[in-house]
Amino acid sequence: MTDLRSMTEAELKDAAKDLGQPAYRGAQLFEWLQKKKIRDLDEARNLPQVFRNALRQNFTLSTLTVHTLQISKDGTRKYLFLLPDGQAIESVFMPYDYGSTVCVSSQVGCRMGCRFCASTLNGLSRNLLPGEMLEQIFRIEEETAQKVDHVVVMGMGEPLDNLENLIRFIRLVSDPRGKNLSQRNITVSTCGLVPQIARLAEEKLGITLALSLHAPDDELRKTMMPVANRYTIAETLAACDDYFRKTGRRMSYEYSLVRGSNDGEEHAQALAKLLKGKNCHVNLIPVNPVTERGFEASQEAAVLHFQKTLEKYGINATIRKRMGADIDGACGQLRRRLLQ
Ligand code: SAH
Repeated sequence: MTDLRSMTEAELKDAAKDLGQPAYRGAQLFEWLQKKKIRDLDEARNLPQVFRNALRQNFTLSTLTVHTLQISKDGTRKYLFLLPDGQAIESVFMPYDYGSTVCVSSQVGCRMGCRFCASTLNGLSRNLLPGEMLEQIFRIEEETAQKVDHVVVMGMGEPLDNLENLIRFIRLVSDPRGKNLSQRNITVSTCGLVPQIARLAEEKLGITLALSLHAPDDELRKTMMPVANRYTIAETLAACDDYFRKTGRRMSYEYSLVRGSNDGEEHAQALAKLLKGKNCHVNLIPVNPVTERGFEASQEAAVLHFQKTLEKYGINATIRKRMGADIDGACGQLRRRLLQ
């Protein structure tokens, strides 16, 4: 059965017609689902009861419920949401000066196996539906009574491993007749699935793509990210260059700093060499220690030095502000505690 919140307005109009209703009923339903963010079809008061019943018989409606909410001193709110099938995912709300941001999960668990990441410890359970990605934003807007104006797909999961649902989510959330979030305010982070980067480029979306690089050479990257065994850095960066050429959107590169592993002067130099001449931005993230993993964050001096070295070579780099450190801020850790 298809999830109603994952459907476009055109698809809902067709569905209405199939159920013997005029097409405009589908448009009304789209507005209830995407703009008024209803949780139950009975809230769609201007739709005939027989239409609501028929919808219930033929479709599902994804809704999330808050299982746990942790609130940080800095205003970060971390949600553990329950899905209709009892699975759990995490989403994070961050109130930045330039507007509030939500970090959205794209899968329950993950099968990419990055060594420093908590989300992948139990593998992948399932993909999230487009409607379940939207629901994370909608329930957070409801709970905080604030408008979300930036979205980063950097929660649990590898978004490009759930590519069709991701693309559908992006189109729905930016639909002028729905939430109407600008695609420029959406960032999707990937560990670097090369064929999917090429496929995403063809969609010509206005989003920012962030690549999790984390190491300047293949050997070191392989010790951190199994995906490095499938694609070399050279071919991954070539796919990113192509993404920039096709979309005109500047790439962002993420680099998590692990003490004594990838945070030396030589690594910064090698990274600068790799990215030389590219119109891009580097985001430095001192690694969030995950109990099961044994990685330690770089010392502050090393992080600052790394940034300085990159800038000396003309590479634009910022250090990601650490938010919610007091509330299991690191990726996938809240869910792990629930599962144990
Ligand atoms: N699967 C996507 C999105 C996941 S998380 C990806 O790999 O990009 C978003 C970012 O957080 C990625 O750059 C990821 O490598 C990084 N990350 C995961 N666990 C981390 C940790 N414990 N400390 C610091 N960064 C981490």
